[in-house]
Amino acid sequence: MVLEQVKAKAIRWLEDNRGLVIVFFCLPASFLFDIFIQFRIWLDRKLAVTTSHKQRVQKIQDQVTEWSKLPASQKKPLCTARPNWLSLSTTFFDKKKCHQVPIDLHDVLSLDEQNLTVTVEPNVTVREICKYLIPKGYTLAVTLEIGDATLGGLAFGVGMTTYSHKVGLYQEAIVSYEVVTADGKVITVTDSNEHSDLYYCLPWSHGTLGFLVGLTLKIVKVKPYVHMQYIPCHSQDEYCNKIMQLSGATNKDTKVADYLEVTIYDKDEAVIMVGNFADVDRTSRAKINDVCWFYKPWFYRHVETFLKKGGEEYIPLESYLLRHNRAIFWVLESMIPFGNHPVFRAFLGWLCPPKPAFLKFTTTQAVREMTFAKQVFQDIVMPLDTLKEQVDTAVKLFDTYPLLVYPCRIYDHKGGAPQGQLRAPPKSRLVPGTNYSMFNDLGVYGTPGPVERREPYNPTYAMRAMEKFTRDVGGYSFLYADIFMSEEEFNEMFDMTLYNQVRTKYHCDGAFPRLYDKVKPEIDVIAIGETYAVKKDE
Ligand SMILES: Cc1cc2nc3c(=O)[nH]c(=O)nc-3n(C[C@H](O)[C@H](O)[C@H](O)COP(=O)(O)OP(=O)(O)OC[C@H]3O[C@@H](n4cnc5c(N)ncnc54)[C@H](O)[C@@H]3O)c2cc1C
Repeated sequence: MVLEQVKAKAIRWLEDNRGLVIVFFCLPASFLFDIFIQFRIWLDRKLAVTTSHKQRVQKIQDQVTEWSKLPASQKKPLCTARPNWLSLSTTFFDKKKCHQVPIDLHDVLSLDEQNLTVTVEPNVTVREICKYLIPKGYTLAVTLEIGDATLGGLAFGVGMTTYSHKVGLYQEAIVSYEVVTADGKVITVTDSNEHSDLYYCLPWSHGTLGFLVGLTLKIVKVKPYVHMQYIPCHSQDEYCNKIMQLSGATNKDTKVADYLEVTIYDKDEAVIMVGNFADVDRTSRAKINDVCWFYKPWFYRHVETFLKKGGEEYIPLESYLLRHNRAIFWVLESMIPFGNHPVFRAFLGWLCPPKPAFLKFTTTQAVREMTFAKQVFQDIVMPLDTLKEQVDTAVKLFDTYPLLVYPCRIYDHKGGAPQGQLRAPPKSRLVPGTNYSMFNDLGVYGTPGPVERREPYNPTYAMRAMEKFTRDVGGYSFLYADIFMSEEEFNEMFDMTLYNQVRTKYHCDGAFPRLYDKVKPEIDVIAIGETYAVKKDE
């Protein structure tokens, strides 16, 4: 009893002072951890330089062939040997249950400036591809604002950026996948060859259909800066209507900006960001703002200042693309509440953000349970014309701000027929005269209001209600985050028709885990959520 009380008090102290714990322990440890990880990756690459891409892929094929010769009783499903803690996913898939195959593929393979594509190995990160492409005058058509995300992880999970209102999800910018199948064969998968069924199922498949060993991605020509225009909005109708117009959701001929994003600071307060590639002449140099410098305010806090009066500025392209990296969107605020203070930024800002890999590496079972029960991390794709209801529902259930909105096209590629895990949008929702509908990512990250105020909060109820709303409007939950759906509900949200056919055709049953089993949280989130709801006043 006494022990329980002491434990509860200790947990409460840690919760109240988590900023100090993170600053004095996590930040320095994460810094050293990162040096070690970078050294390991550098060493892996140095060793890999002595081999060609083909030889490295052959090594993976050999391991799959070896696995196939194992007696049935010893055959565990296949997965990559990449440690869980290196992945940005909030879940911890139990890799011990699987036969792990190392995928040591970290190289940029070629750049095709004529056809505007780049070919890479799957472990190249967003930061690395930015460093490679931007000096040459290009960037990926779709990327992510987190430098540590891998191009392969985005391909088999999901990727979306502020360019997605022009081209759609990351998967729309993939020209071809190079995949090692369950039979140990290496195949090139495009939308028009004999593997086109697989092409449509690989996105959102999370490594349950094969090993990704190469990827050809579309790139776009860029200019050195992004001209940003910040448009303040003071009512829900205003930002919902404006974003429909600016994204081209109402008229396909609208001249849309290169980058488009909304950050919602309160139900009726939002800033729309409109960005366009730009050169900067002498007269405009004073308007350059490199938002990624460690001493600068966190990006979303900087944007908030434009609520009073709009404005404009120029951001160097690489800094624009990684603008949310330093505060991990706004997740860092719940870890270091004073992290955006100028004094903190000046002295310790360069240590931020703590490495997601380090945070995951040091996550104990108790921290894992507390994190999902007392915080929310969700990215959800829903039709843009339901934005008002999305915001109302998210606010009612989680009461946390800011909220992130990225408009994004979702295509009907096959005239309504099964086209992978995402269904074709209903005809009534297509932008007139096109084969796409405008959806958006709603990003909800942070500590729910009731948790902050120490009021009753039931994560299980909130998450399941959000998922139900998502299914009702024909949307999809990103599968890097914890899901609370039963398998039946999951199969209602995602279209598994083609996926199941592809699994049979490519002999995946018994070779790779099924999608639901791969992405469902490794802990019983429903039961734990209910337990934490009971413990609300501790
Ligand atoms: C705070 C936060 C905000 C986010 N915001 C966004 C956002 O705005 N937009 C967005 O698109 N995403 C967002 N994400 C999610 C992020 O895009 C995904 O987690 C993405 O998958 C990250 O890549 P990763 O390199 O960590 O992938 P991983 O998690 O390593 O990989 C994704 C899946 O693919 C499998 N896989 C990876 N490589 C291979 C391979 N070579 N062969 C077979 N299987 C493989 C993995 O096993 C895993 O199941 C956000 C994440 C966080 C934490």
